[in-house]
Amino acid sequence: MVEAWLETLMGAYNRDSYEQREGYMAQIHMPGEVFQSLVWWALQSLPDEILVGLDVDPNRLHRPEVETYFDGPEVHDHLFQGQGHIINEAHIVNRGDSYSVHHLPEDWTDDMFSTQRGSRAGRFTHWLHTHPNAPAIPSGADADAAQETTGVDMILGLRFSPEGPLPWFDDVEGTRRAMKSSEPTKRKRSFFARHQLPVLGKAPSGHRIHELQLIAFHKTGVGINVIFVDEEGWPYGWDERVSMS
Ligand SMILES: [Zn+2]
Repeated sequence: MVEAWLETLMGAYNRDSYEQREGYMAQIHMPGEVFQSLVWWALQSLPDEILVGLDVDPNRLHRPEVETYFDGPEVHDHLFQGQGHIINEAHIVNRGDSYSVHHLPEDWTDDMFSTQRGSRAGRFTHWLHTHPNAPAIPSGADADAAQETTGVDMILGLRFSPEGPLPWFDDVEGTRRAMKSSEPTKRKRSFFARHQLPVLGKAPSGHRIHELQLIAFHKTGVGINVIFVDEEGWPYGWDERVSMS
C-alpha cells in the first residue's frame, strides 16, 4: 500500500513532468510502491547514503498512451538499456558516504545476488542513490559513477527531521525536481510556527519528511523524465490530467 500523501505528491510531480516534457528526450516509469520503499530505506539507513540497483520487467512496457502523453517534441527511442519497460525490482546494494557509496562490495556480483536474481544475475539496469538532507543534484563522483550505467542513474534527495548529524545542505547548483505539496501551508502566528517546515508525511522510521526531490539522468548528462505509475501502469493523477494540460 502506498501512503495517500505520497500518492498526492507523485501526482503533483507527474503534472510537473508533463509541463516540463519539452526538456526531455526520454522517460522512465517508476511504480509508486517501489518509490515508497526507496524513501523508507533511505531514512532507515541514515546517516549513510544508499545505493540501490533497479531492474525493469521485460514483460511490461510503458502504456503507449501514457508514453505519448508525456513525450516531448524530440524523442530518443534507443537512449538507454531497459527503455520503455516499467521498473519492477529494487535492491539495496551498498551504503556509505557520498564517495564510498559508489564502490561496490566484492560479493555484489557473486552467488548471493545471482541466486536472488535468477538467471539475470549481472549488473542492474538502473541505479539510484540517496542524498540525505541535500538536494538531488549529481556531484562529480556521481557523474563518474554514472559512466558505467547501461540504464539511467537516479538521485533521491530528502529533507527530513530530526536531522541528526546531517543538517540540510543547500549550497549546490543544478536543476531540481522537487515533490511539492499542493496544499497551501497553514500559517500560524507564533514565532516557532513561522520557522517550521511543511511536513509532507511521516516515515515508519519516525522522521518527518519536509521535501523529496528526484532526478534521473543518462550518462551523457541529459535528463530523463520520471513518471510515477500505479500497479496498473497508470500515472498518479492520470484521471485529473485535463488539469495537467
Ligand atoms: Zn550523490
